[in-house]
Amino acid sequence: MDGFDIHDPRFRRLVLPNAPLVKLGEGYAWLEGPVWFADHNCLLVSDLPNNRILRWSESGGVSVFREPSNFANGHARDRQGRLLGCSHRGRCVSRTELDGSITVLADRFEGRRLNSPNDIICASDGAIWFTDPHYGINTDYEGGKQEPELPPTLYRLDPRDGSLRVMADDFAGPNGLCFSPDERLLYVSESGPQFAPDPAQHIRVFDVADGGTRLSGGRVFHTVAPGFADGFRCDEDGNIWSSAADGVHCIAPDGTLLGRVEVPSTVSNVAFGGRNRARLFICASYTLFAIYTNTRGAVRP
Ligand code: MG
Repeated sequence: MDGFDIHDPRFRRLVLPNAPLVKLGEGYAWLEGPVWFADHNCLLVSDLPNNRILRWSESGGVSVFREPSNFANGHARDRQGRLLGCSHRGRCVSRTELDGSITVLADRFEGRRLNSPNDIICASDGAIWFTDPHYGINTDYEGGKQEPELPPTLYRLDPRDGSLRVMADDFAGPNGLCFSPDERLLYVSESGPQFAPDPAQHIRVFDVADGGTRLSGGRVFHTVAPGFADGFRCDEDGNIWSSAADGVHCIAPDGTLLGRVEVPSTVSNVAFGGRNRARLFICASYTLFAIYTNTRGAVRP
């Protein structure tokens, strides 16, 4: 099939041979943090080095949603539908309220500043999980060079009391994250330190226990190549659609690479959206693409 690279016959059922990869916009710096708003029929996406968040809709195309964005990166929505975001320059995780004001939910842990929150999800109990690696403040390009104060860490934030807990800190550079559809598993990509001669770059999988408050395990689940996994999402069957240097890789829950959606530039993140959550939006460096699939995004982001 043109535009697809099939590694496993199961992949044929997940894609549509007559659905093209469509370019929705180009000329950006580095797209990240896509999040779908079905209630507004639009996508928000960070144009990270340009310090802005863009909005795309079928009828209106691409416009600027927020500028400056404080070098926003990953996004999600909470259980009330509010926008949750990671900010490199703000070194924080924030929530956009329904009146448009922005509330900082976390910017410190035990008195020390967070580094550069990268990606974020919200569990069904309302808890907010996010990664906090160093690389967002390693250079001036994505928010300004600053000194890290904390080790690279995966956190869980309880918005009811604002408490922040370390869920895992044995990472060199935690990046994207996603629950399995039943929330029994948490996948976290490890993509750093990116400039090390032999960086650890793979997706790890943790077991989620004690009502979503404890992790165990953390084995290597899959190694994406070429490139590495940055952001990714699950479909309703638990397959993972991951960023890679040569497109979007689809990985089965058993860790098998099923196939690849060919994309002409490096992919950083993806999000399901559109009608029935069947359209995959693809952040590909300076270009925004979308493709209709024959699956649906998991209800949990
Ligand atoms: Mg990322």
